[in-house]
Formats: sequence, structure tokens, C-alpha cells
Amino acid sequence: MQLRVEDVPRQFIAGHIPWVLLSFPWHGDLMTPVNLIGVMEQFADERKCRETLMHLRWANGVMCLRCGHDKVTPVNDRKVFDCNSCHYQFSVTVGTMFHDSHLSLTKWFVVAYLLTESRKGMSANQIHRMIGGSYKTAWYLCHRIRAAMKAVPPVKKLDGTVEVDETYVGGKQHGYPGVRRPGFGDSNKEIVIGIRQRGGDLRFFHAEDAKTGTLAKYIAENISEDVDVIVTDEYRGYRKAVGKARHETVNHGRKEYVRLGTDIHTNTVESAFSLLKRGIIGTWHRVSAKHLQAYLDEMCFRFDNRKNPYLFRDTLLKMLDTEHIEYKHLVQAAA
Ligand SMILES: [Zn+2]
Repeated sequence: MQLRVEDVPRQFIAGHIPWVLLSFPWHGDLMTPVNLIGVMEQFADERKCRETLMHLRWANGVMCLRCGHDKVTPVNDRKVFDCNSCHYQFSVTVGTMFHDSHLSLTKWFVVAYLLTESRKGMSANQIHRMIGGSYKTAWYLCHRIRAAMKAVPPVKKLDGTVEVDETYVGGKQHGYPGVRRPGFGDSNKEIVIGIRQRGGDLRFFHAEDAKTGTLAKYIAENISEDVDVIVTDEYRGYRKAVGKARHETVNHGRKEYVRLGTDIHTNTVESAFSLLKRGIIGTWHRVSAKHLQAYLDEMCFRFDNRKNPYLFRDTLLKMLDTEHIEYKHLVQAAA
């Protein structure tokens, strides 16, 4: 089924991609929901990938990246453009996440598709086996796509009924008793704070600890002051952290998972945690603390776009909108 540009609901557009990008009929191709075979057929050669990026990047025609002039001369089979005014030469990938002289755009497209469509994510090792090349190349590629998926500020604040919970990932995967002691647990484990609007978006944060001040910061930054209710478990740290918002708790220590006769529960944020843990255990195997936030961002991006039929195209748009990351920068990233 071919979808027309006008059919695309506005809310599906991720990040701050200008609406004008969608006002061009050319997007017809990418509007069609695709599967892997479709991606491989549609973007089988470099030229098709380049043209796609070109139209996504410059919906109103190619413009000089240096002076903004709208008359350019294609050189070398449109691999490069030469500005008619300042004679700056540039390619469609310069200044974007796609900037890489070694890797084919076909691979970029296929891996971007695989990462957006795998519900629990996909490990670099698996990508490496699927596309060939070295493990390092696959790892670097996955990290760059992941970095582009990251939400861009300003972030919409969550509203309605919002559930907040914290969990531990990494370290030894043994269970812990009903009463948790956030911030004082197994030092091998990393703390993840989850905030989810019921029926809406999800946020995960790799936190230093789960003390009141930390919780208060994430709550203030991500939850609207007009929120109907914030639901947490009985952990004391939440009492002050929620501020003036209405606050309801379920007592997990007493095995109370849904307050009887109400919709007071934290089940939806917990189900997101379980998806995350299956991703970490089953897919990524071992996520280093250093890169945990990047995996969390990837998972939230996919989750928030779970009903977006244009997720692949929107991911390409984000990659065009994000600056290239050097390998050494990723490897050296602060813990
Ligand atoms: Zn120019």
C-alpha cells in the first residue's frame, strides 16, 4: 500500500525534524511500511541510498552547507556538489552521522532498519555476523545509530498517570528480597530509574543512586507539574521527591501489586524494565556501565515509536540531524 505524505500524522515525526520535510511528494517511497527484504531491494546500491538521503536532507533542493546558496553543480555522479557561489564542495553525508568513508550506505541502511525493528535490540555481535566485516566496525556502527536515536531536548514532560520505579541491572543477576535498599545495594549493579506515562512515553535514566535528591531531579525534569498522579512503590525516597504532585504508592514489601479496586500500580513501568532486562541479558549480553545510557535511550526511542509506521525514515532523519561521532570519542567516553 502506498501512503501519501498527507496521510502521515504529525505526531509521528520524531525529535525536531521540521514539518516542511514532509511536504514534498518525493517521500512516497519511504512512507511505505517496509520489511527487511523491502529495505534491501529499495536501497540495493549506493546511488539509491545517496538520493534518499539527499531528498531527506534537502527537501527543497540541495543547498550549500557553507553559504546557503541554492544553486549547486553535481560532480562525480552526484557524489559531491560544488556550490556555484562559494565553490565549497560537499557530499550528502558530510556533517551527519553517516559520515564515514569506509562503510557503504547500504550497510548503514540495513543496520539502521534492524536496530529500529528489533523490539529488544540487537547486539553488535549479531549485526557483525549478519553483515560481515569486523566486529569493531559493527560495534561502532551500532553505537552511532544508537546515538542518533537519542531524544533531543526540549523533552516533552509526562502527564496524566505517571509511574516511577527504579531497578538494578548488570552485576550478578541474583534476585533481591522484597524490601529494596536503593543506593546501598550491590555495588556491581547499575541503577536505572524508569518513568512512564501510562499509555504514553517512557524514560530510562542511568542514575548515580536512588536517593531523594536524585529522584526529585529526574521527576522535576520529566514530569509535568500538572500531572494527575505519580505512582511509586513504598520506598521512602519518593515521598519528598514527588514535590507537590498527588502521590500514591503500592506496597511491594507486602506483595501489594495493585491497590484493590483502583488503578494504582506500577505495572507498566515494571513491564518496561523486564523488556530492558531481557534486552540486556539476551541481546547485548554485557553492557558496560559507560554505555548503559545509550542502550537505555535506544530502548526508549523504540518504545516511544512503537506505533510509528515511519520509524525507519524517522531514524534516517535523526541520523542526518546528528553530528558524526568519532570512534576514539566512543571508546574514551567518560564512565
Ligand atoms: Zn556556497
